[in-house]
Amino acid sequence: MTEPLLLTPGPTPIQPDAQAALHKPMLGHMDPQVFELNARIQRNLRRMYGAAEGAFTALAAGTGSLGMEAGFANLLEPGDEIVVCTNGEFGERMAEMSERYGARVTRIYAEPGRAVDLEEVRAALASEPKLVAVVHGETSTGVINPAPEIARAAFGRTLVTVDAVTTAGMMEFCMDEWGVDYAYTGSQKCLSAPPGVAPIAVSARALEAVRARKTPVSLWYCDFEGMQAYWDRRQYHHTVPVQLHYALDAALQAALDEGLEARARRTITLNAAVAEALLPLGFSHFVENPRDRLPTVLALRLPAGLEDAPLRAALRERGISITGGLGATAGKIWRLGLMGEAARPEHYRRLFRELAVLLG
Ligand code: PLP
Repeated sequence: MTEPLLLTPGPTPIQPDAQAALHKPMLGHMDPQVFELNARIQRNLRRMYGAAEGAFTALAAGTGSLGMEAGFANLLEPGDEIVVCTNGEFGERMAEMSERYGARVTRIYAEPGRAVDLEEVRAALASEPKLVAVVHGETSTGVINPAPEIARAAFGRTLVTVDAVTTAGMMEFCMDEWGVDYAYTGSQKCLSAPPGVAPIAVSARALEAVRARKTPVSLWYCDFEGMQAYWDRRQYHHTVPVQLHYALDAALQAALDEGLEARARRTITLNAAVAEALLPLGFSHFVENPRDRLPTVLALRLPAGLEDAPLRAALRERGISITGGLGATAGKIWRLGLMGEAARPEHYRRLFRELAVLLG
């Protein structure tokens, strides 16, 4: 039996050191050794995000969506204005969450498969909203949005949240240099750790904004001040998933040892090679403008006459998981994951071999 292979846009195949770390013995969440582990995670997250010394980094005990929700829960109060860039599922999820926290939401739309227009965002920022939010890599369509430019345009007037779920740890991410105030990801994406913790980074400006709130944060579990009590002051807040901390720590250390630039090169090179191998079979790019293509998620239209569900089911029988489209693109595209451990040439060679057998 060959090992099952995840070539999906998350979760990714688990990193070997992270897999081994899951076997470590249980320790209490208030154990001095766990606090040392947490401090290393915080330091290494600062490196991964390119965050300033004064930024607060931590793991929220949930998946990427909890990272997303924590940002809106802390940075928005009822009636606040927010501009949300929406060109896919996850941008829309951000807008919906902001509405649930009582914010007045202005959506900047772009069609699926296109990046949001920087000039439209700039125009919306003229009214100086409290927050602007953008998904850096829109997983649902394989599009990269101009997050650094948006952050620079908002700097000093409007706080900036960037969803870094498909970018941080694999692509360049410079939180401090770009002027990002809140960033989050999920452990199972670019770092290839098990799902269940969301690495977050909060700028000093954002922490100041939380302290200036008129109302308490409705999401008690991820109130940044409560999280800081545990992570920075070593006081009990809630029981953290220690095994997942061990695994994340190991995967993060491995990513930093490999080097963030080397990881970006790895995904960019493999993305081009996979496209080059599949385009002659009749696949075509879903994202038309090369500038808008996300290196970590390759979105390809299926060749005419090729049926999505039976082919993916046959690949699954042979141990390979591939993800199709979401919503309007279901049945029409494949989304190939090139994050973390998925971005290995040998994995894609295995896919090509199986496809050759199935397509004859
Ligand atoms: N944001 C983006 C860009 C994502 O791709 C995902 C998940 O695929 C999420 C948020 C939500 O993360 P999770 O499924 O870990 O809750």
